[in-house]
Amino acid sequence: LRASRGNIVPFVKGLASSFESSADVRRVAVNIHADRNEIEVYFDKDKMEKILTNLLSNAFKFTPEGGEVRVQISNPKSQITNHVEITIADTGIGIPADELSRVFDRFYQVDSSQTREHEGSGIGLALTKELVELHHGSIIVKSEVGRGLDSSRKGTEFTVMLPLGREHLKDEEVIVTEEGETQEKSRPSVGSIPAAA
Ligand code: ATP
Ligand code: MG
Repeated sequence: LRASRGNIVPFVKGLASSFESSADVRRVAVNIHADRNEIEVYFDKDKMEKILTNLLSNAFKFTPEGGEVRVQISNPKSQITNHVEITIADTGIGIPADELSRVFDRFYQVDSSQTREHEGSGIGLALTKELVELHHGSIIVKSEVGRGLDSSRKGTEFTVMLPLGREHLKDEEVIVTEEGETQEKSRPSVGSIPAAA
């Protein structure tokens, strides 16, 4: 992990809107909402980009025309939830309950003709989970296979939870950037040594 302190809100919004033009063509609505304009968190930009890109591309891949992809950034205020939550929800085909626990397994793809036609290799979510855990965070999934009557009750929702603050990070997991994003750090020289890839 090469985390630096930054505002996660414009980062997530920017990535989500980069999917907007292709979503437009497929007539899938994109709605992005944040509780606040600024939520400071330590994250690794490259790895966070992979996490969000994987979740967003799945959401669009498995959501047919006329559907919706919703991106929500929230910062629930309570003693026990000291984290930021990034939720990517879609009104797509859903994942059957008995398959949900396996979607994070490497090479696992829900075996139905409907998902097979989308190809891919089934590594996106396994990698995504690994990268979230590198951030000392967690990822959960909720899903419901719809019957086509009530579109608000079907679809899939992935939530990434990232801890706030930097107590959970080792010095070698934090990098110092030009913007001096880690100025409150006590030993700045440690973070400037490039970590192995
Ligand atoms: P890859 O990401 O390697 O291109 P993939 O998208 O098939 O391939 P994963 O991202 O790991 O693989 O997802 C695993 C499986 O979980 C998918 O094949 C699909 O069956 C199911 N899945 C993931 N996201 C969604 C979603 N948003 N809606 C419905 N099913 C999903
Ligand atoms: Mg994928």
